[in-house]
Amino acid sequence: MKKLDTPIFVTKSFLPPFEEYVNKIKEIWGSNILTNLGPIHEEFKENLNNFLKTDYTTLCTNGHLGLEMSIKALDLKGEVITTPFTFASTTHALVNCGIKPVFCDIETATYNIDANKIESLINENTTAIVPVHVFGNPCDVEAIEKIAKKYNLKVLYDAAHCFGVEIDGKGIGNFGDISMISLHATKVFNSIEGGALTYKDPVLKETLKLYKNFGITGPESVVAVGGNSKMNEFQAAMGVVNLRYMDKQIEDRKKIAYLYRDLLKDVKGIKVLNDIEGVKHNYAYFPILVDEIEFGKTRNELYEELKKFNIFTRKYFYPLTSNFACYKDECKNLDLKNANYVADRILTLPIYGSLDLSIVEYIVDAIKVIKKEEIIK
Ligand SMILES: *Cc1c(COP(=O)(O)O)cnc(C)c1O
Repeated sequence: MKKLDTPIFVTKSFLPPFEEYVNKIKEIWGSNILTNLGPIHEEFKENLNNFLKTDYTTLCTNGHLGLEMSIKALDLKGEVITTPFTFASTTHALVNCGIKPVFCDIETATYNIDANKIESLINENTTAIVPVHVFGNPCDVEAIEKIAKKYNLKVLYDAAHCFGVEIDGKGIGNFGDISMISLHATKVFNSIEGGALTYKDPVLKETLKLYKNFGITGPESVVAVGGNSKMNEFQAAMGVVNLRYMDKQIEDRKKIAYLYRDLLKDVKGIKVLNDIEGVKHNYAYFPILVDEIEFGKTRNELYEELKKFNIFTRKYFYPLTSNFACYKDECKNLDLKNANYVADRILTLPIYGSLDLSIVEYIVDAIKVIKKEEIIK
């Protein structure tokens, strides 16, 4: 098999037609408002709120600052139960806010926090649960809500991967106290950088607004120790324009995911994730789990050998955040058996709306060649 002429990466940022974006940002030269919750910011917020089917949406500079703002707005402190199978942001946000992350193991079916293991980690210092809907697959939101109610804990979902995901027709942002959806360039939907916080409590609308703009309530009045996480007008303009293309983008991703699943179903040692009943998925990622015994090669070998075909996959999420140099000393003796198992075997394959289906076939063929299976064409 010949190596691809141009490299294929795990994702490719969506860009709208150039003219369309230029037309939108012309409005900024009319308003002369570049940031500070300008007219395009308000328009984007409204459109996004409708798209996400939530009660309230607060926009911010990026998802990470959105998490930190939410932690402050919900007044989380002490210990928080969370997952180590995530991007650095989730754990860093907690620690940056002075909280001790308490890591809970994950379930192997979805790679999400194992709700059955949360209760045993709760003590008198616990103030919240911060789960992640990993790869856009929803956590067991009902079980988590039950536990939160029983112990009077807050729930902040890292829903960074979940743009457009719904459970039984309800937007993913309707669960927990606040959900954070990342609008980063590499995510399903982008406003260049950006974050959207979704929630039901109208009081949070005012609190979050304070935290995103230095705690300022008037020219001579500052009432909270806020920061700056405002989304500017250029970001919001990208969001307004990109939103027009999102239904189609998710449709295209779905075709790719279904093709991967179909082509990979007979490849021994490769496990894929399937759709969950009642869930509208966004196909943000295409993770595979490589069983080294059945596949005949390790995840790391597959990752390296795919590079020789010009295919660049990612080991999301390896290492676990609990194994980061900055956390590992405190996390030495934790029972994270499933999380370690998955982190050592996970590989995310390229997926994005404009990825050609013939490239998907090529990638699976390459996987089979690496496995030394014959290709019948
Ligand atoms: C991308 C991501 C974030 C951070 O979002 P940004 O918008 O890049 O700041 C947080 N958590 C997870 C799981 C992510 O993948």
